[in-house]
Amino acid sequence: MTKFRTKPLITLITLIIIVLIGIGILFGQLVQSYFLESLVESQKVKILWILSISLGITIIVIILLVIRMAAMYTKPIKAATDVAIELAKGNYRARTKIDRLDEAGMLGTAINRLAENLQELVKVQEMQQDRLSALIENMGAGLILIDSRGYIKLINRGYIDIFQVNPKDYLDKLYYEVIDQEELRQLIADVFRTEQKVRKQLLIPLRIERRFFDVYGVPIIGSNHVWKGVLLVFHDITELKKLEQTRKDFVANVSHELKTPVTSIKGFAETLMDGAMNNPETLEAFLSIILKESERLQSLIEDLLELSKIEQQGFRLNLKQLDVNKLLKDVITLLNGKAQAKNIHLDFTSDSKQLMIKGDIDRLKQVFINLISNAINYTPDGGDVKVVLTDGGENITVHVKDSGVGIKQDEIPRIFERFYRVDRARSRNSGGTGLGLAIVKHLVEAHQGNIIVRSELGKGSEFILELKKSSE
Ligand code: ADP
Repeated sequence: MTKFRTKPLITLITLIIIVLIGIGILFGQLVQSYFLESLVESQKVKILWILSISLGITIIVIILLVIRMAAMYTKPIKAATDVAIELAKGNYRARTKIDRLDEAGMLGTAINRLAENLQELVKVQEMQQDRLSALIENMGAGLILIDSRGYIKLINRGYIDIFQVNPKDYLDKLYYEVIDQEELRQLIADVFRTEQKVRKQLLIPLRIERRFFDVYGVPIIGSNHVWKGVLLVFHDITELKKLEQTRKDFVANVSHELKTPVTSIKGFAETLMDGAMNNPETLEAFLSIILKESERLQSLIEDLLELSKIEQQGFRLNLKQLDVNKLLKDVITLLNGKAQAKNIHLDFTSDSKQLMIKGDIDRLKQVFINLISNAINYTPDGGDVKVVLTDGGENITVHVKDSGVGIKQDEIPRIFERFYRVDRARSRNSGGTGLGLAIVKHLVEAHQGNIIVRSELGKGSEFILELKKSSE
């Protein structure tokens, strides 16, 4: 290596020495001849000229050689410096040309390697930055970063979506000047004050609604206990809270529904034991009440069990080909007695004698029983209940239409909720559990069907059930 690197230098120095020796010899000769007595004045002048010219040539040659030598060494160093300047500016693609194997070449190679490493490092950093940004933006939660002086430094898309804010109004602003929610400002202040993690569930008013958030505030403390700021993460738990509330309501409702018949049975039994049983008329009346209440209790428990079975994760329909026409006829026969007891005209029409669909026969029977018995229950004596079956090609439609009490428009979406009753007393009298339509809704959905309700208060209701002929 050293041999190659020093070669130009040695060559150059040798060259200079040769030139110098040559010139020295010439110079000596000339000086010697200059002092010869025999020389005339004009010859001496000539020699002086030759001396001066050769001296001048020597100096020029030396200067040229030195310049070349300097250029040979400074050019690659300059190129390397230029690349270093470009790297400092952030242009990591800059490279220097390497056409020699000496020290300058090594410098160029080293600079190029440095540039390559820097480029690689920046690429990795950019990739990590992209991943981090993607993660922050799509983490499915709101995020806000506040620096140690209280200035907001980052808000992600989740936060923007939740609070519908403009990042321009937020970034580099003091958090207590831009955050409207007092509870939130308080939570941030708590993290600053206590330097501890704070976790709270907040009900935050947003535009026209209030939503529940699980807010997690973390102090960011760097090395040497240097405060870097506060990070807040918002998880929207409104749906979870609703679910929790529904569950609580359900337990309360079930307890209430069970308590009523049990209290009644207990009360009548106690009265009987206290002596009322000695009166045969009272005995019979009370016993029939007890029987009615225990039947109600039984149907309530059956419906509850049914509902919980349907709502189980692994619930599966037993799908088979069935004739809806026949199924509806069977249900009508089953409920005819109930309709006759109220003098209700129960009518069934169908546009075909046989209509095959794929479904769970027992579950669909339950759906039709619930819909038709509701129509009978909520229709005054002497009214009409019409059941119409139509073939719609890929679907079939069953209309259950009554001339009964009807349902108010704003109550229609609620009647499919568990235990929701428009008229509590009427429902109880008819032996209703308040779960019939909830069961219907679940079963229809399980069949990938659809149910709509049309109703007019005082005039009657129509439940329209649409089922696919081949639900999977
Ligand atoms: P219930 O056991 O009380 O009948 P459902 O879930 O079957 O419970 O029905 C819920 C409520 O919807 C009923 O209490 C009743 O107020 C209303 N409803 C259902 N069907 C009809 C109908 N055909 N006409 C009028 N109201 C109805």
